[in-house]
Amino acid sequence: MAQYTPMIQQYLAVKAQVPDAFLFFRLGDFYEMFFEDAINASRELEITLTGREGGAEERIPMCGVPYHSAETYMSRLIEKGYKVAICEQVEDPAAAKGVVRREIVRIVTPGTVMDSKLLGEKSNNYIVSLTADERAYAFTACDISTGELYTTFLSSSWELVMDELNVYNPSEIIASAQLLEAIREHSAAWSRDTVMTAWGQADEKLLDEQFAEDAALPALSVLNRKGVALLLAYLKETQKRALTHVKHIRIYEPDQYMTMDPFTRRNLELVETVRERQKKGSLLWLLDKTVTAMGARMLRRWIEKPLMSVSRIEERLEAVNLLYNQLIVREDVKQALKEVYDLERLVARISYGNANARDMVALMHSLRQVPLLQEVCAASGSETLRKLVAGMDACEDVMSWIAGAIVDEPPVSIRDGGMIREGYQPYLDQLREASTNGKQWIAELERQEREATGIKSLKIGYNKVFGYFIEVTKANMAALPEGRYERKQTLANAERYVTPELKEKEALILEAQDKMVDLEYELFTELRDKISQHISRLQKLAEVIATADVYQSLAAVSAAYHYRKPEIGEGFDLHIEEGRHPVVEAVIQDGSFIANETSLEQEEGRILLITGPNMAGKSTYMRQVAVICLMAQIGCFVPAVSARIPVIDRIFTRIGAADDLIGGQSTFMVEMMDIQVMTEKATSRSLVIIDELGRGTSTGEGMAIAQAVIEFLHDRIGCKTLVSTHFHELAHLEESLRHLRNHCMAVKESGRQVTFLRKLIRGAASTSYGIYCAEIAGLPDAIIQRSYDLLRGFEERSAASTQVAASAPRTALERRAEEPAAAGEPAAPPADEPPADAPAAAIQQLSLF
Ligand code: ADP
Repeated sequence: MAQYTPMIQQYLAVKAQVPDAFLFFRLGDFYEMFFEDAINASRELEITLTGREGGAEERIPMCGVPYHSAETYMSRLIEKGYKVAICEQVEDPAAAKGVVRREIVRIVTPGTVMDSKLLGEKSNNYIVSLTADERAYAFTACDISTGELYTTFLSSSWELVMDELNVYNPSEIIASAQLLEAIREHSAAWSRDTVMTAWGQADEKLLDEQFAEDAALPALSVLNRKGVALLLAYLKETQKRALTHVKHIRIYEPDQYMTMDPFTRRNLELVETVRERQKKGSLLWLLDKTVTAMGARMLRRWIEKPLMSVSRIEERLEAVNLLYNQLIVREDVKQALKEVYDLERLVARISYGNANARDMVALMHSLRQVPLLQEVCAASGSETLRKLVAGMDACEDVMSWIAGAIVDEPPVSIRDGGMIREGYQPYLDQLREASTNGKQWIAELERQEREATGIKSLKIGYNKVFGYFIEVTKANMAALPEGRYERKQTLANAERYVTPELKEKEALILEAQDKMVDLEYELFTELRDKISQHISRLQKLAEVIATADVYQSLAAVSAAYHYRKPEIGEGFDLHIEEGRHPVVEAVIQDGSFIANETSLEQEEGRILLITGPNMAGKSTYMRQVAVICLMAQIGCFVPAVSARIPVIDRIFTRIGAADDLIGGQSTFMVEMMDIQVMTEKATSRSLVIIDELGRGTSTGEGMAIAQAVIEFLHDRIGCKTLVSTHFHELAHLEESLRHLRNHCMAVKESGRQVTFLRKLIRGAASTSYGIYCAEIAGLPDAIIQRSYDLLRGFEERSAASTQVAASAPRTALERRAEEPAAAGEPAAPPADEPPADAPAAAIQQLSLF
């Protein structure tokens, strides 16, 4: 250390505080990085690596970025999952003795980003802390860009922790090293690039101070106190300031909401698609007609957390119902929401001291809309909307403060003046007058000089280096009298001069201007600080606005797609009349989606065993049932002619996805582990969906496991269940299991062509059409013939041992034998309900493969 120069020594001392972050070390107009940081940053940011003498024998690796464009570079590092510590000069270099004092002023981490360029407007950016004792976990999530903070107590089940992590999808997790290790071990369910920081230090004193006025503080459990305090300590350490906009702790119980494991969330494509992991094509994408960013974020939270309370769901449905039926009210609400900016993030920036005058104007415009929103909701005729705005604080005082202080179109910078309105402060007005008068004086001087010299093109100009000057073209120079004019600058075809009186006036004008700029800055920050005392009120208002926005969004989508209001109840039986999959329907667009019925009743069939070939529409149907239940429980109308939905406590899906091979586990193993969790967690109020149960192992074993699982669900759990299987042999279970009903997807055979009707009917499917499919795909005839021969052998053998239901369908071989005669007949077994006529466009023909 001793061999280094004092500056490098200082660098190393600061760097030692942040070993896991890039240190942006301010040197004049640059942030420099040294040693390893420089090597890594030059690689990550593709900037030139140089070197610098530092006292040691070898030059020290160095690279730097200009301070005015540092944000872009920082963003790039944060996006890549790094942390960046910003170290500034904290004393005036002119006044410093020796090396200028430098300190870290903020550590930016993926979970503590405030820069709007890095934040998705429509999604939250959470940082999560996890604490544990022998019995339980405390899970806390905070978004410092909006000021939200949620915490919950989880009984000692690790699955619950993973479920919550999936809901919040944090960009950073802080916990003890041991807990972080446990999260990594469960990475099959947690495959995101989340920064994990080992952190053990909690600050309970800070907790008590920060939430002294929050009613939730005394309600925190010991463990949750520790969790929130841990997070606060970390935020303080990295942000180096009090986060005064994080004001309320929202304590929630996980069982207030429907439970879904990570795979279910993904499979149902709630907020992103399985394959592309993008919003487009997800349920959120479909339902998002929100106008404000706050509304969009709230909608996402609602979709992630469907409610369990019938009364709360009904309350939401009541508002959606009104806005669904009253187009004018809906349009009015939408209108009122236009011009409402992201209040939550504006407010956070105000408390952070990052807000500029434009942010203030945006806040003012937003607040201006509030009375209209309030009026529309109060008069809407919806009890829910009326209650939402009753007693709402429109923060009119804040609006008038801004309106009185800030000009209509202020500049971005708060250091150059031009923000404060005339008449706001007498002294500022005086300075302005002095400066304006000075400018007039200069205009007058220009006129006089022209007259005195007779040079018509003479002009008085200004630049930052020389101040005010008199400019005369080279051609006219000779006309200037001697003496009074002092030459300042020579240009290609002009000369610039000053005179003593011009200099004197300039000093006055510039002084007034300097004072003005300083005073404006002072007045602006005063206003900002004043508003930051009212953050809590603004946050409450933001929540009301967001809620109204979500209601209008749900109503708008429901109306556009002709959804209907579901009936929500506590009972068991579920009925969906003409249900559709909302996203598939919307993507097809041409109205050709085939609607299907669903009945799951405690006595009359709570398990549907669905058989049918690939591409018949089985998994779409099963997902549609789950999505309809979920939509109902967030308070949205559902894609059906009518629906009676009992509150579902948990949706469990096992639907094969392309990327099942996570962590080296086979598809089959993953399926079995999922099913293990299901057998443990599912209750009679749950909805279980298993696609292609028992695949991935030998036919005999697969079938055996499938049957045993179905029996277990039937006898022990009694939940609503939809199971699809390739094993049509399992159809015989209908005879032995009282609550199971066979269903299949209707298929129409016409000559050698098979057409999917996408219609769910009673009975079991006859065949998988696998060999038929191979034939259409153009496999050599020798293979096709041989396959049919082999199949005949298998079927003869299994016919001897398997008990097949009386209504057993024809086998593939029978069908082939009868081929010409069967043309045009549905290949389903004698159906209770014949397939409805399907619109031609909906009928996907296998021959199209
Ligand atoms: P399976 O699970 O039986 O293999 P899928 O559910 O994946 O079949 O459906 C196959 C394709 O059929 C899907 O891409 C979907 O677009 C279409 N489809 C499914 N159900 C319907 C329906 N009810 N109406 C119209 N098209 C449908």
